[in-house]
Amino acid sequence: MAHAHSVLDFHSFTAQTLAADEVQLIESSVAQFGAPLLLLDCDVIRQQYRALNNALPNVTLHFALKPLPHPAVVRTLLEEGASFDLATSGEVELVAQEGVPAERTIHTHPIKRDADIRDALAYGCTVFVVDNLNELAKFKPYHNDVELLVRLSFRNAEAFADLSKKFGCSPEQALTIIETAQAWNIRIKGLSFHVGSQTLHPQKYVDAIRTCKQVMEQVVERGLPALSTLDIGGGFPVSYSQQVMPIDQFCVPINEALNELPETVQVLAEPGRFIVAQSVTSIASVMGQAERDGQMWYYLDDGIYGSFSGLMFDDAQYPLVTLKQDGEYAPSVLAGPTCDSIDVIAENIMLPKLDNGDVIIGRMMGAYTSATATDFNFFKRAQTVLLNEHDQSCERMIG
Ligand code: PLP
Repeated sequence: MAHAHSVLDFHSFTAQTLAADEVQLIESSVAQFGAPLLLLDCDVIRQQYRALNNALPNVTLHFALKPLPHPAVVRTLLEEGASFDLATSGEVELVAQEGVPAERTIHTHPIKRDADIRDALAYGCTVFVVDNLNELAKFKPYHNDVELLVRLSFRNAEAFADLSKKFGCSPEQALTIIETAQAWNIRIKGLSFHVGSQTLHPQKYVDAIRTCKQVMEQVVERGLPALSTLDIGGGFPVSYSQQVMPIDQFCVPINEALNELPETVQVLAEPGRFIVAQSVTSIASVMGQAERDGQMWYYLDDGIYGSFSGLMFDDAQYPLVTLKQDGEYAPSVLAGPTCDSIDVIAENIMLPKLDNGDVIIGRMMGAYTSATATDFNFFKRAQTVLLNEHDQSCERMIG
């Protein structure tokens, strides 16, 4: 996403004492399945979905699959009554396999091949996004079957990923698209935007909602059919090594801005990171070690090319914890397993002396981590262990 390789530093290391039951869970998981592992706790998915649902009571939440396209996440959210945001035919296939009713999905990739449109339509998804006339023209053959959202661009340099750099149009261009669609007999359902992933200030949403409201008014002034939908995208923030605003508080100004829209406007959102970031804890183990330039280098069995790929594509500062807490602390480096020298997770962190086989725990490892992992050098990706997949149970299985 941000395309700059960040390395975790001393802010990421927490000399946190883990609860005895968590230590037991980590140790027994490694004993049973080996390392590296990702523990995916479906209870956290439920908790985050419910929290955002409460914070945005009049908004239909379409979980964006891309940060963690795992079948267990889809199943858990389906049970919660969530809707889904799809961007590719692979994502269409996943929700279809898990039995998600197509009416609960939207397809929001602004640039598609004809085959992508056909695959989504064959499944039954009928809502798509466009941000230019070339894309609009692709819907001429399907005009009886589709309803479109026009995506507007709102730049956000502070976000982890400024998604309006690559996608979205200006309000003037949106009006041209809507007029052209009318001429081509293609139904425009509403507007959409994405203010950027991990947006820290709700004002970004407020400004975007107000601009969309003006565009909706201009549509009516021009005698075009009124728009019925506003999709406020994803971007809701989570606390990595630094605390962000609690979600209830974050959404207060957003709800106020939404209340200024006509009551007839249906509001959607496409949260990804907020739902899944906290649900995954990574476990990597020390494969080997060396002392170099006054620092202890620990080589782990997971790294930048694996579950820590977010350090390459995202800006997240994943909190790290060791199970071992005693002994003398020394400046240390945590490196990944591959032969590439950029495969370094953390530098200048103070760690107790670790032995081969000791584990490093990564928190907040659910969003844009395993989703962007590779198997470079033939290092296998971390296996996922599912926790609490069925509400109220504490079962554990590999999935
Ligand atoms: N919707 C679209 C179209 C996106 O591109 C993204 C992220 O890239 C999301 C939703 C999810 O955003 P986030 O994970 O920031 O909530």
